[in-house]
Amino acid sequence: MYKLPVEAFPNHVTNCYLVLTDPITLIDAASGQESSNSSLLGCFERMRNEFGENVALKDVKRLILTHGHIDHFGGLHFVVEESGAAIGIHELDMSVIRHFNERLVVTAKNLHIFLERAGVGPERVNKLLEMNKWSKDLFRARPVDFTFDEGPLSGSPFELFHAPGHCPGQVCIRLDDILFTADHVLSHITPNQSPEFITRYTGLGHYMSALKKVRALPGIRVALGGHEDAIDNFPARVDASIAFHEARLERTLGLCNEPRTVAEVSRDLFGERKGYHVLLAFLETGAHMEYLYERGHLAVVNVEEVDRQYNPVLQYQRQ
Ligand SMILES: [Zn+2]
Ligand SMILES: [Zn+2]
Repeated sequence: MYKLPVEAFPNHVTNCYLVLTDPITLIDAASGQESSNSSLLGCFERMRNEFGENVALKDVKRLILTHGHIDHFGGLHFVVEESGAAIGIHELDMSVIRHFNERLVVTAKNLHIFLERAGVGPERVNKLLEMNKWSKDLFRARPVDFTFDEGPLSGSPFELFHAPGHCPGQVCIRLDDILFTADHVLSHITPNQSPEFITRYTGLGHYMSALKKVRALPGIRVALGGHEDAIDNFPARVDASIAFHEARLERTLGLCNEPRTVAEVSRDLFGERKGYHVLLAFLETGAHMEYLYERGHLAVVNVEEVDRQYNPVLQYQRQ
């Protein structure tokens, strides 16, 4: 098994993994940008030159995609053109590939409603919606060859664990005592969260449950993420990720002693962000406030206003 650190976008490395099973399997394909594709080829070249492994991209016969984010699946056209590999992804992310543009457009409608309710001004909403389209020309929709949910992947030594939250169809993949965690668990950062209001099967509730689920897997010697480094003490890293979000939930609640909007809380949590990071901050805050709201720790307090208006700004307060 080889780790292929591919520069998917400038200064953004996605780890793909080549598993020398029969058939030879590649886990993730990076972004599909020209520089990403040549970086992927460069990894194969290093494998041949430095490790004497006589295997090329054309030998890959199966491509498993860990989730429907473009830095992981965008390179699938290139991989298929080079190798003819069969592509598989979790059933809940299949339509991201099959109906790429439709998903972007329809999801953006929910995002629009979310941002308005979050108390983001109209000018900024339009800017953020425009920014959200950044990936629309980077990928051509196409069908996939197989989908999966959970359990053993037939004709392979892999066992799949559905781990929704960061992405609806996120999976972790077990191979003996190795767990490929993709973006579900990373060695340093915690992956971005967004509210389930925008996309079903995302949201912090799913994410925390899925962390607890993989935490319970016995005998994981090493976990390998979709970015960053290998994780030696997997249970400890999962515990740290859970503790991180629990602390952020506590902090979020502490900011809602008075009626507050998602946009206001986001500014308190993350300060003034720039560009795309503004959107990520709103989504992260929205995911935490949604989690607290669903569990009754926050309530919407401007009920009369909400009753009168079509899509009002929601004011949340600690209960
Ligand atoms: Zn991701
Ligand atoms: Zn990623």
